[in-house]
Amino acid sequence: MTNKQAAIKVIRRLNRNGFQALMAGGCVRDMLLGKRPKDYDVATDAQPKEVIGLFKRTLKVGAKFGVVIVMLEGRQVEVATFRTETGYADGRHPSVVKFANAAEDASRRDFTINGMFYDPVKDKVIDYVDGRADLKKGLIRTIGKPKERFGEDYLRMLRAVRFSTQLGFDIEPATWSEICRNAKKITKISGERIAIELEAILVDPNRSVGAAMLAETGLAKAIFPGFSARHAEFAVSVLAQLRKKVDFALALASLFAGCPTDFARQKHQILKLSRSQNKHIKFLLANRGRLLDDRMPLSRLKMILAEPYFWNLYELQRAIQKATPDGAKGIAALGRLRKRIKDLGDVELRPKPLLSGHDLIRLGAVPGPALGQLAEEMYIAQLEGKLKTLSQARQWAQKWLQKRRMTEK
Ligand code: ATP
Ligand code: MG
Repeated sequence: MTNKQAAIKVIRRLNRNGFQALMAGGCVRDMLLGKRPKDYDVATDAQPKEVIGLFKRTLKVGAKFGVVIVMLEGRQVEVATFRTETGYADGRHPSVVKFANAAEDASRRDFTINGMFYDPVKDKVIDYVDGRADLKKGLIRTIGKPKERFGEDYLRMLRAVRFSTQLGFDIEPATWSEICRNAKKITKISGERIAIELEAILVDPNRSVGAAMLAETGLAKAIFPGFSARHAEFAVSVLAQLRKKVDFALALASLFAGCPTDFARQKHQILKLSRSQNKHIKFLLANRGRLLDDRMPLSRLKMILAEPYFWNLYELQRAIQKATPDGAKGIAALGRLRKRIKDLGDVELRPKPLLSGHDLIRLGAVPGPALGQLAEEMYIAQLEGKLKTLSQARQWAQKWLQKRRMTEK
């Protein structure tokens, strides 16, 4: 059973018990566009209690707000009771949620294209908000007055840019100017929620258009204070050069491709990313330019190749060169690097050191910083291919220690 079939089954059962039940929101939009919806949400006039009573397995994730998850043959269907939301004093959370009818439920939604219902039993679209007209025109328009709707929830500003990016739609002029007027208020929204929308914008193949909108509306500067028009201009060209499918870290690093690493890292803090994502982004930004160096020692090449995000770094650098007026030289350098990598064959990038710390102590090294230095230099020599056997390594270490003793005396 597909997600869609599961949703239809839920709808039929609600109907049979005298309730109105419809597909709602994003899935209706996507079906009308001929796209495959991510998930099929159901909206109904049944109260959460009644929904729970009708199905064997349910999750009461947000029953207070009218949302129940119905589990059906391994599928999960989100069933939400028609509702209105009011009292957004803080610009992010409704303080009062009231159960309502379908038309009222439509008008609490963000954009006209997201405000439609579909009855799969009667095969009928139910459109209280003129969503179909905007879908035809390719427009993102708030339901009701943009000023009020953004004032209720400033995250909607970013959602507008997100849907515009993903669908290739324009943002309707009054909606657009209200975003520009309120962009600074995006700081009322938590970093985590901003990050979710930003990710959706930047991983989309249309990401450079999305980034241009973030810059033009003032959202980019509001989210990342100090992110200048010059930064944005370069970001847009770098993002336009990336391959189609990228992860968030690569996209975010590209957004900051024209900024110093420390600045970027400081700005990213507001997004509350995971440690591993922060590390990933730092690696990408801090190593900008390194891959263009034809004289990169073999040991350094092996070490950087062994990094898990090496190919993202390569992709970032390629996009930067493509976005730079005299970037052709860099592209040629990347070509030579590729050849060097190919010529390495399947050599081990991170072989075990020929001698361990214990081995070095047995050879007379004294535990401490000098031992660390010896181990490191020896490992580099090993990666360079200068040390191949155990006895070569021993000799090399002994010489190193001898030289050190002489200089210490
Ligand atoms: P996607 O396909 O990316 O999931 P979606 O339209 O389904 O897009 P969701 O965030 O899953 O978007 O939300 C589902 C629906 O809930 C939306 O289509 C919209 O009708 C409504 N909605 C979601 N977030 C908001 C919001 N902040 N303000 C008003 N309505 C919202
Ligand atoms: Mg959705």
